[in-house]
Amino acid sequence: MNRQYQDARNQLIDSLRKRGIVNEHVLQAMLNVPREQFVSKPFKQRAYEDVALPIDKHQTISQPFTVARMTELLEIKPGDSILEIGTGSGYQAAILAEMGVKVFTIERHFELYNEARRVLKDLYPDKPIQSRFGDGTIGWAEFAPFQGIIVTAGAPEIPESLLKQLAIGGHCIIPVGNERSQVMHCIIREDEQSFADYPLEDVSFVPLIGKQGWSGDQ
Ligand code: SAH
Repeated sequence: MNRQYQDARNQLIDSLRKRGIVNEHVLQAMLNVPREQFVSKPFKQRAYEDVALPIDKHQTISQPFTVARMTELLEIKPGDSILEIGTGSGYQAAILAEMGVKVFTIERHFELYNEARRVLKDLYPDKPIQSRFGDGTIGWAEFAPFQGIIVTAGAPEIPESLLKQLAIGGHCIIPVGNERSQVMHCIIREDEQSFADYPLEDVSFVPLIGKQGWSGDQ
């Protein structure tokens, strides 16, 4: 593997640790995944800066700190089934796969779905990653319940379908707010009927567009 990227990746992991990421499994996964494979050519040199970068269709690959933070909040165990809404570049899905879980990821832009699927197949031919093209706000009932659900786009409210597909004890990590800024929420399903909702830090994501998200064609 390219030495220059290796050094930059080590530095990024150090800075994530300094910013408060404590889960060693998450840090190890971030160390294992080549982020440069998920960004477009003009941005490869910047792949290990702790910033979000543009991908096709006016979308973004999330900032590494945000990816690490959301992954940590999921509190996953190997073998869990995790649903991701918003595949984008596929980077977050790769981190989840490195954590030893079964990944189910949905993307509403066909080009992004296709490209992410290609990169993920290429890097992880043997890992359990299933991709789907479509509206993720309605979840993926066929494979529910999920021990974790991670929404990587900003929602106007928490989609009811996703809560229904969350396993008891499972965590749903989702940014909720307006189209420009949101608050990260961690929702824990305590039993069949009750959910604990913990609002956390302010964040800024591209909008979640769909039946139980924003309407629009971005
Ligand atoms: N997790 C991604 C971040 C992508 S940005 C990564 O690691 O790169 C958010 C993505 O959510 C965009 O690609 C956008 O097209 C997608 N998205 C928005 N609304 C969606 C919906 N209802 N269903 C599926 N994907 C959606």
